[in-house]
Parts: sequence; C-alpha cells; structure tokens
Amino acid sequence: MLDQYGRPIRDLRISLTDRCNLRCVYCMPEEGISFLPREDLMRLDEILTLTRIAAELGVVKIRLTGGEPTVRPDLVDIVRGIAQIPGIQDIAMTTNGVRLRTLAGPLARAGLRRVNVSLDTLNPEVFARITRGGRLQDVLEGLRAAEEAGLVPIKVNAVVVRGFNHEEVVDLAALTLNRAWEVRFIEVMPFGEVADLALAGVVRSEEIMARIEAAFGPLEPLDLSGGDPARTYRIPGAAGTLGFISPISDPFCSRCGRLRLTADGKLRLCLLRDDEEDLLTPLRRGVPYDELREIFRAAAYRRPFGHALAERMYPQHRVMIQIGG
Ligand code: SAM
Ligand code: SF4
Repeated sequence: MLDQYGRPIRDLRISLTDRCNLRCVYCMPEEGISFLPREDLMRLDEILTLTRIAAELGVVKIRLTGGEPTVRPDLVDIVRGIAQIPGIQDIAMTTNGVRLRTLAGPLARAGLRRVNVSLDTLNPEVFARITRGGRLQDVLEGLRAAEEAGLVPIKVNAVVVRGFNHEEVVDLAALTLNRAWEVRFIEVMPFGEVADLALAGVVRSEEIMARIEAAFGPLEPLDLSGGDPARTYRIPGAAGTLGFISPISDPFCSRCGRLRLTADGKLRLCLLRDDEEDLLTPLRRGVPYDELREIFRAAAYRRPFGHALAERMYPQHRVMIQIGG
C-alpha cells in the first residue's frame, strides 16, 4: 500500500483505550478531559477485522498503544488474535510499564514480541510530578518483568521537558552502559490544551545530545537514517544504544510509513494533523468487507506530507492520550 507521495505504509498503531492509570502532564490536561463512553471503543472483534484489512493492504507491523493499553481487560486476547492474522510479522506495545509485572509473561505467551516502556526520570519525586501521582517502583519492576519474559530489545521512551527532567538525560543515558536497552529521547510536542507546556518545555535533541556528550565523550553514530524514526547512537563501550526522536527540530515526514487507529476506530492519517477517517461507524453499519477495505485504502492514500508545527498550527481536537502515540 502506497500513499499519494509513494511512501509505503507498513506500520499501524492501534490505540486500545483513551484511559490511563497515570496522568502525564504533557499528555493530558489536569482536568476537563472527557473519556469516550465504553460503547464507543472498538471491541475485540472490530479490532481484529480492521487489523486483518490493514494486513491485506500491506501492513506488517502492529503497535498497541493508548491511553494505557494494559488497562484493557481483554489485552491478552487482542494480542493473541492479532498474532494469528496472516501477514502480521511483528506485534509491539507502548506502555507506561505499571502493569507489566503481572502482564509481561501472559502477553509474551500470547505473541507480543517487544515493548517500549515510557520512563522520563529515575527520581521518584519527579516521576510523581510528571505522572501526577505515579510510583516509579512499579515501572522499574515492570521493566524487569518484561526482560524476564523476553520482550526484548527493550526500548525506553523519555519525553524531555525543560523544568521537569532535562537535567536527568545523562542519568537516563547511563542506563545503557550495562543494559542492552535503547533509551530514546523524544522532543515534547504541542497538542490541544497541553500545547503551552510543551512549547515552553521543548528541549531540542541537539541540546540533549550535547549534555550526554559532555558527560561521556563523543557518541558513536549507528543509524542516522531515522527510518524508525529515531536516529541512534552509542556511548563508546556501552551495552545498549541511544535514540533521538526529533519531531520539532527534524521532522521525519519523508520516512514516515505509519498510520494510526484511534480507540474509537478512526484512521488518523498523521499524528500531528486532525485528519481522520471513521472506520468504526461503517463497520458497525454493516458495510460489505470489500467496501470497508476500500474506505481504508483510499484514506491511507490521502496521507498528508509535512506537519504544521512550524506554522504554529497544532492538533486541536485531541491530546496524545486520545490519539495513541
Ligand atoms: N501509556 C503508554 C505510554 O505512556 O507509553 C502509551 C501511550 S502514550 C500517549 C505514548 C507515548 O507518547 C509515550 O512514550 C509518551 O511519553 C508520549 N507522549 C505523550 N504526550 C506526548 C507529547 N506531548 N509529546 C511527545 N510525546 C508524548
Ligand atoms: Fe498515560 Fe502514557 Fe499519556 Fe502518561 S503518556 S498519561 S502513561 S497515556
């Protein structure tokens, strides 16, 4: 499946819920967010139908996300169902890690291959401040369980926000010295009601890298093509790697092969634009399978190029917890 600019689409991120057991400052406003009514969330069978269509159109990689995917009671069944769809070669999940202690084993047995765990700080107080009340220890235990269950290579996602954790990037990078993890530093993006915090707090990858190099010396470049979309490096001699994801300072639209399905069944054509195609409504109305596949394909073809952050046009209708990062 190619879009109008000839970019192949091989990667689908599926948001399973817009709810979460944490409340990160850059992901949702403190109050006033209205969650979807349960009946508006895609059900297991609906997720599998839309994933099957995606696979028939050429998607090979699925990433489960949210909100927090582990708050879905049927998560293990979802993973098992997706793992059985012909054409799907890889299933990964982005999670805050809080529930991995009990779920890592069952998820790995159901067919999950890897996890990205979000962790912005190693300081329990800063963690509680960023997540508005979370417990760092839960995530550290979750990371251990994920490793034991073989959900590797583990990637750790750290969103860097000035005034919260920008001085900790060296400590986070040091996690890779004796662990085969990839620690990825993400520039914070502005969405809807949390745009002001993100705009005031953005730390460019260049600055993050300079802080790390000041501590460990020049980083060894590994993959700078950004296909992932992280550009990766290694601290000389380290067991793991570092990734830099730079949506603000180095937009990666030309290499983007990604679609997103929101928890309410809308195909979102770009993370940073409010352009969506509703797939769940026609599915529930009972449109024939081939017609639904054509709606999916035609929407994917329309994928835009170039996001509008530079023109100060931020996505307004959803914050990250409602999109699925
Ligand atoms: N709850 C899961 C988690 O935290 O990993 C999955 C969903 S979360 C929305 C996915 C990723 O988006 C996380 O790594 C999170 O840190 C990141 N994220 C959330 N809001 C963001 C923002 N404004 N800018 C950049 N990344 C953001
Ligand atoms: Fe929840 Fe993930 Fe958003 Fe934090 S980043 S509030 S853990 S969905």
